[in-house]
Amino acid sequence: MPYITTQAIVLHTADYRDNDRMLSLLSPGYGQLDALCRGCKKPQSPLMSAAQAFTYGEYVLYQGKGRMTVTSFQLIDSFYPLREDYERLRYAACMLEVLRLQALPGEGNAKLFLLLARSLKRLCYLPLDPRAVTAAFLLMDAALSGWRPRLDACVHCGKPVPPGVPAYMDIDGGGLRCRDCVNADTPALPLTPEQIAWIRDVMINGVEKTALPARDAPLIPLLRYLESRLDARIHAAKGLR
Ligand SMILES: [Zn+2]
Repeated sequence: MPYITTQAIVLHTADYRDNDRMLSLLSPGYGQLDALCRGCKKPQSPLMSAAQAFTYGEYVLYQGKGRMTVTSFQLIDSFYPLREDYERLRYAACMLEVLRLQALPGEGNAKLFLLLARSLKRLCYLPLDPRAVTAAFLLMDAALSGWRPRLDACVHCGKPVPPGVPAYMDIDGGGLRCRDCVNADTPALPLTPEQIAWIRDVMINGVEKTALPARDAPLIPLLRYLESRLDARIHAAKGLR
């Protein structure tokens, strides 16, 4: 099977020789793929837009004896407005980095692919708060990856965490931790009752349908939670609050 046709989103690009680029692609069926895009930096190249970070398209890839190469490409969405909005671009870069850390070659995950495509669309085209969209992406990414945080009760003592009560996000422990179980040695970040309500509602209704205010999206606790699961820092998130 020397040719593969697959939809993909470009997670990362690196210049290679004068006119080429190496691409890290996320494919729903094949996971993360590295492919060389030859000649894409030449002004008239039909592959020019195939070799930009965030590009979503249908790629035809050839696997010869050496490395995989892009042979043709059809654009689905370049998410161009992201490139004109630095703030949204930074949030989008976080999403790409998460999947770059997470997606493995040969291990397709259509749900994670769809989550990324939808989250980029929300950042790009919908009048939603980009911080809340990114927090929701991190939450759903964790849930789809088998790391759904426990939200009903304390992960340590099992006592329920009722609505209206603050608690902590236990970064290593897998969900909420009640105030009685937090001490100086616990890596945990405080969550207000409103933030806990936001997480619970977004888990059920999604970020587009929640009526709760975007300011309650706890981006940093969810970021640290996911970083702990990935055992890596998400560098694109540096400076975000
Ligand atoms: Zn507890």
